[in-house]
Amino acid sequence: MRVATQPAAPTSYRGRLAPSPTGYLHLGHARTFWTAQQRAHANKGSLVLRNEDLDPSRSKTEFASAMLADLRWFGFQWSEGPDCGGPFSPYNQSERGHLYLTAFNQLRAGGFLYPCTCTRKDILSALTAPHGGDEEPIYPGTCRSNQESQIHNQKFSWRFRVPDGEAVKFTDTHLGPQQFIAGKDFGDFIVQRHDGIAAYQLAVVVDDAAMQITEVVRGSDLLLSTARQLLLYRALGLTPPAFHHCPLMRDDSGVRLAKRHDALSLRTLRDQGLSPEQLRAGW
Ligand code: GLU
Repeated sequence: MRVATQPAAPTSYRGRLAPSPTGYLHLGHARTFWTAQQRAHANKGSLVLRNEDLDPSRSKTEFASAMLADLRWFGFQWSEGPDCGGPFSPYNQSERGHLYLTAFNQLRAGGFLYPCTCTRKDILSALTAPHGGDEEPIYPGTCRSNQESQIHNQKFSWRFRVPDGEAVKFTDTHLGPQQFIAGKDFGDFIVQRHDGIAAYQLAVVVDDAAMQITEVVRGSDLLLSTARQLLLYRALGLTPPAFHHCPLMRDDSGVRLAKRHDALSLRTLRDQGLSPEQLRAGW
């Protein structure tokens, strides 16, 4: 008999729901997650729930429990998660720091990172072109030649140096061929914050790889993050999953739904007596 020390490589589809407990989930989350669940079912696969409570200042346990309750009410079912365990436990990002640190050390040893002392304000004032939207500004490269030994008594984060000019390409299972240029569409990005906590880009790559996710279904607001993450997969020698980006849900005035849209939170809709079936009928 063979004793497995590592879970076997996936032979079937593995999808995930990866909400952050920074507010109540809204209808836009539910629609993207519904696609994730449908794709897992259609592929006779499994669905994992990962609690992305990486940022201690923004994550709240009350939102984490509301998240699970709201998802269950809506009709989501997962076979692995913080509430039911599974072969890739823990499923709370706040408990997975050791895995992020190993990956961070590997990137650092591979020469992919540099320490950056810039504040958000420094970056904004170093930029000549205006920028807008949710995307972070393209980092102007101020600290690219920094060595850790030269930094004294200053806070610093660690950035991934992107290969300027390289086209990061992938074929989205919903949107088709995608291409983003490193250094132009997105710049050097943070993988570890100044407080030592892994940044979203690194944590999500480490987790999706470790949890053997075969397809990531997410909102199209994360397309550029996918491009960044593909560079991390390559630098870490990991095989990326497939990606399926869903259209974002907008409110009546065309504004993308966010956690601040309380009126469209699953909680509020449920309290108004709406059923998940009625809500899905509107999609
Ligand atoms: N947890 C993140 C969010 O809620 C992103 C998940 C993902 O990578 O798909 O926006």
